[in-house]
Amino acid sequence: MTKDIYADVIVNISVDSLDKAYQYKIPDGIREKVKVGQAVMIPFGVSDRMIKGYVIRISDKPEYDVSRIKSISGLCKKTLDTSERMLQLAAFMKNRYQCTMNEAIKTVMPVKSKVKTVKKKSVVLKLDKEKARAVFLELNSKKNAAARARLLKCLIDSENGILDYNYIKNEENIGPSTFNSLERDGIIAVEAEDVFRNPKMDYGSWGRNVILNEKQQEIADDITGEYEKGIRREYLIHGITGSGKTEVYMAVMEKVIGLGYQVIVLIPEIALTYQTSGRFYKRFGGRVSILNSKMSAGERYDQYMRAKNGDVDVIIGPRSALFAPFERLGLIIIDEEHESGYVSETIPRYSAVCVAGELARLSGASLILGSATPSIETYYRTSEDYKGDKPVKLYRLDIRGGNSRLPNIHVADMREEFKNKNYSIISTGLRDAIGDRLRKNEQVMLFLNRRGFSGFISCRNCGEVVKCPHCDVSLTLHYGHNRKKLVCHYCGYERDMVTTCEKCGSKYIGTFGTGTQKIESMVKEMFPEARVLRMDADTTTGKDGYVNVLESFGAHEADILIGTQMIIKGHDFPLVTLVGIVAADMTLNMSDYRAAERTFQTLVQAAGRAGRGNRPGDVYIQTYNPDHYAVTASVKQDYGEFFNKEINYRRLLSYPPVSRIMSIMTASSKEAYAKKIIDDVARNTLLYFKGNDAAKVIGPAPHFLAKICDSYRFVLYVKCEDDKLLYRLRDMIVEYLDVMYEKKRFDVWIDVD
Ligand code: ADP
Ligand code: ZN
Ligand code: ZN
Repeated sequence: MTKDIYADVIVNISVDSLDKAYQYKIPDGIREKVKVGQAVMIPFGVSDRMIKGYVIRISDKPEYDVSRIKSISGLCKKTLDTSERMLQLAAFMKNRYQCTMNEAIKTVMPVKSKVKTVKKKSVVLKLDKEKARAVFLELNSKKNAAARARLLKCLIDSENGILDYNYIKNEENIGPSTFNSLERDGIIAVEAEDVFRNPKMDYGSWGRNVILNEKQQEIADDITGEYEKGIRREYLIHGITGSGKTEVYMAVMEKVIGLGYQVIVLIPEIALTYQTSGRFYKRFGGRVSILNSKMSAGERYDQYMRAKNGDVDVIIGPRSALFAPFERLGLIIIDEEHESGYVSETIPRYSAVCVAGELARLSGASLILGSATPSIETYYRTSEDYKGDKPVKLYRLDIRGGNSRLPNIHVADMREEFKNKNYSIISTGLRDAIGDRLRKNEQVMLFLNRRGFSGFISCRNCGEVVKCPHCDVSLTLHYGHNRKKLVCHYCGYERDMVTTCEKCGSKYIGTFGTGTQKIESMVKEMFPEARVLRMDADTTTGKDGYVNVLESFGAHEADILIGTQMIIKGHDFPLVTLVGIVAADMTLNMSDYRAAERTFQTLVQAAGRAGRGNRPGDVYIQTYNPDHYAVTASVKQDYGEFFNKEINYRRLLSYPPVSRIMSIMTASSKEAYAKKIIDDVARNTLLYFKGNDAAKVIGPAPHFLAKICDSYRFVLYVKCEDDKLLYRLRDMIVEYLDVMYEKKRFDVWIDVD
């Protein structure tokens, strides 16, 4: 006899109802068909009236007396409604990202937050200042009117008769009755305004009706043609920055909206608050809703509800906009799909590109991805080698609109600079070019990729980087008990800190760390007359921090802008004719298999910042690895060349997307216990793959953060081309550990790619 199977069913889809799941038996006849997310009919309550419920978990363990568990009556057949789709999406995410159903549902379902939305209140003077002064004099001479007089005086003294309510209340110690009384007399008004305002828009700068060029039209026609035939799939528009991808998106959107469908557009966070979103407003007017990450949960909920009610056709936002509950979702667009911001930093650590693909499939929608430097993962899916599901159709757009040209790219070999006794971090060529631009009153951007910095060791004389002999990633400096050591983040390989370069014997070897601040002071020293702005996480705190810096630079209030990744993302500054990439190697030496990809993307995007106006631009790439293919391909701005080299490298070392990589990490306060478990997992993994040489098992080894908060961590990597094998292995490990070990004494994390 087969074992009985049970389903946890909720009767109302909302985050609140998750803990009110009821267990039902799944009858044999429909066993195969009941999946998480499925709508089912169930007998409910004492009277057993039939109602609709949704399956959120399936298990073979009854949670209470079997004789009292009722059975599911049947399946609801009709097509998925939005909530069911979201539930199925959550189930997909649970599987893919190994989170709980609860975490997944919280991610995909909008939550009505109980906190009141914050409103910014202002006090506005309703009289002209002449009359107000008269009232002030009268109040000032009265008894018991001191607070009113004080408030009025502040308003009269203010620039335009408007003050922040909270500020004046606290600063001048003014109570509510004072505001009330003056408001009643018609002297002031207290006005509430939503803290969220739509981004600043400059309608003037985009020509109203752009006529698509031939290539753009061809792509738009092809996609809409397939759409009308009912074909739904994924597309990639590979087009250099400024080649007109956004115009193509908008043409396709217009068509899809015309057919009565709704559209989700994801654009990188920074573009939301700056330029791009205005264009969508202009084209689609009030039927557009824009989300941003600074909105409160309540405000975001309101926008989601507008989507659900059909009040908008288009929702634009960062990755969370994916979960807008559109009833008739017909198209998803992800601009700059390679952006790392599309991967969530909190659990579940989902990739928006991957989840969008699944959402599109569940909704019967198409997905358009666009980028100048597509992720290797996405581009691989356009190639003939790709045999998996969700293949991607590729289009190219390679002419820049307008009359701007691609810049001249120069490579500064920092090893040569060092040999020629230039010990500064600015090469001679870049320094001369900066001087030249300052004289011509043009602008300069200096870019430093700090995020990639991870304590790698390199030689200043020859550029050699100390790498792991097994994994080809750079070793990272760690400070042990009493000695410095170098560690591989992948396999755990360790060696002593080196003191001389193994290639050239130079003693100038060490960590390469340079901050934007250091560059700033150096530049100010070199060019005392230059006006310098710095933009990084330190200088741009506050809501509009980076917008202010960018606007100030855009208004030519500075000659040089120094910054991290933020400054290279899609802003048009026509006066910028020089871009310096101070340390191109920073990302190249990241201890991550994506190092070359990140570097190439960064270099190409940064180069795209130079010469967007009519003046030709120059780009200086400063590097210790002028011969690395990520550098040489970016000099030629040749994505194809880069992709071919990179995919061969990934194939050679069994890295994604050719192969999938799964990491298993165990942690415990008892080192021996964590070690015992990972060894056991390793043994079983080897057994699982016995006779299958397509898989590689690496480790186990101490995790690179081997001890955190008194918890010891070990890690094992498994590489395999067939991700289904990996997912099955993962589920088996989870189940095995559940049975064999004491849950309370250890943690385990399993991650694919
Ligand atoms: P991308 O999204 O690829 O960076 P955009 O769509 O933003 O490119 O286009 C870059 C600039 O060129 C924009 O100012 C846009 O209005 C303009 N543009 C794009 N296509 C055309 C066209 N067919 N005719 C005129 N201007 C265009
Ligand atoms: Zn050396
Ligand atoms: Zn290694």
